[in-house]
Amino acid sequence: MAVVDVQCPSCHTLDVVKYGRQPNGAQRYRCCNPECQRRIFLLDYHGRHDGHDLQRRIIEMALFGSGAMETAQLLGADADDVYQVYHKLTQFSWHPSMEPPAFHAMLAMR
Ligand SMILES: [Zn+2]
Repeated sequence: MAVVDVQCPSCHTLDVVKYGRQPNGAQRYRCCNPECQRRIFLLDYHGRHDGHDLQRRIIEMALFGSGAMETAQLLGADADDVYQVYHKLTQFSWHPSMEPPAFHAMLAMR
């Protein structure tokens, strides 16, 4: 069965294929959209346990428009950790109009 739930973080197409693995075992994907800027992307959450839940919650806060400092305070998280996640979101070309479920699927995909 093809990969159906992974979305390219750049162009949001579902037309992506598995593209080998990183040395640490994280699954790589390749976007099949010829016009896409980001051809190879990585959903590297697999196998990482520490901070996974916190990261998800930070992302959820970000999706609901919370600022980084506000998120850190509300979650009782370290501000540096929160900023790291926010920075990661910008690397995914995350945009406020992006549907949260799609974004979650993208990040949670193993
Ligand atoms: Zn793409």
